[in-house]
Amino acid sequence: MEKKRVAFHTLGCRLNQADSALLAADMSDHGYEVVGWGEPAEVVVINSCAVTGVASQKSRQAVTAARKLYPDAYLVVCGCAATDEQLLAGKGALLADLLLPNPKPKSLAALLPENPAHCEHIAVRPSSVVPHCEGFTIPGVGLYSERTRANLKVQDGCSFRCTYCIVPSVRGPARSRDLEDILREARALIDRGYRELVLTGVNVATYRQDDADLATVLQKILEIPGDYRLRLGSVEPGPLLDRVIDLMASYPRMCRFLHLPLQNGDGDILRRMGRRYTLEEYARTVELAASKVEGICLGTDIMVGFPGEDDAAFQRCYDYLDALPLSLMHVFCYSPRPGTPAATWPGRPAKAVSHVREERLLELAAGKARTFAASQVGKMARVLLETGEPAIHGWSDNYLKVVLPPSAGLDPNTFHDCKIAGVLPGVEREVAGQCSIHNSQFSI
Ligand code: SF4
Repeated sequence: MEKKRVAFHTLGCRLNQADSALLAADMSDHGYEVVGWGEPAEVVVINSCAVTGVASQKSRQAVTAARKLYPDAYLVVCGCAATDEQLLAGKGALLADLLLPNPKPKSLAALLPENPAHCEHIAVRPSSVVPHCEGFTIPGVGLYSERTRANLKVQDGCSFRCTYCIVPSVRGPARSRDLEDILREARALIDRGYRELVLTGVNVATYRQDDADLATVLQKILEIPGDYRLRLGSVEPGPLLDRVIDLMASYPRMCRFLHLPLQNGDGDILRRMGRRYTLEEYARTVELAASKVEGICLGTDIMVGFPGEDDAAFQRCYDYLDALPLSLMHVFCYSPRPGTPAATWPGRPAKAVSHVREERLLELAAGKARTFAASQVGKMARVLLETGEPAIHGWSDNYLKVVLPPSAGLDPNTFHDCKIAGVLPGVEREVAGQCSIHNSQFSI
């Protein structure tokens, strides 16, 4: 029987990575060999992203590049940019063979032609699948190319409709994965040797199944025995986090890491964005986490250049961020997404002004990252080792990249309690939240 191979290229967030891993598992279960991108394959899958204008553009470029790299393959485009019918056909040439907008199918293999290598390439238009709001299950167990870390999808979609965000349109309303189904995949991933599970979703704070909420999900997973740790991905700020913070303070297996996307530190801009918390509520959560969880890494996302952001609003945002004990800040410029309310609003700062503001916040972010790393010198951290050249490196549970001497000779994918010895010089600003620590001593 002819060998069938599939290659994946994933853009965007952790949730997309989780989706790709689950689709890869389904393809593997149906007899496909999952190969690396660039290796010969009969089916290629682009899992696309549309969260910003740049992401959409990159997705389109990825499809064009994939068609050049794989002229004869059956090309599937799924994910958030898969509503763009231009992806079906380029300038006179067929690009994608199949567009699959969200939600992802339970089985990709079931939608493919019997013999994708020899089928006639006829573009299939997207069906208008309207995701329902109820819970969902996902068959299988995510298949990841690396062995250290796996994403665990617990939720999809969002019903908040922040005024700048296209995600609810391309991912549908919020819906939660069945708790038993989450625990089944978590157990299987741990049994397969993944040492870190990262909980992912579009808006995981809205997780609900009967009486279970996000804190319940975390606690149930933490009760699974095994050699692993649990990390919470980005989570919307809200009162639920008080219980999540308590879990971080009491379960050593729960990573000391909380990524709370603030988006802006000016109250008026925040309201215009349609965010569901005040600056006071956000600061309270950050302070609570910092006071209860020793050494916690607190991250955030900040957007500059939103309509109505004048110099005074930006300065208020800067001062607010400056005063918070944040360790990791992702900063980016607002880009209007057609179909969202804010895209039509006047008062956007000029591009050059937005970039100057972005630079100022990136400098602030770099300083905060260095301050956080320096605050950990002399302290112990539990590090999950990965392989790397020239030295072995790993990540601490509080999200520091820890570099060990090359002579350490430790196995990858193992945990070690390391003493942080110092901060590496020349931290790149783009990875300012992931400072490298060197000459770490360790005790096993
Ligand atoms: S919470 Fe707001 S920003 Fe986040 S996905 Fe939902 S609508 Fe978008």
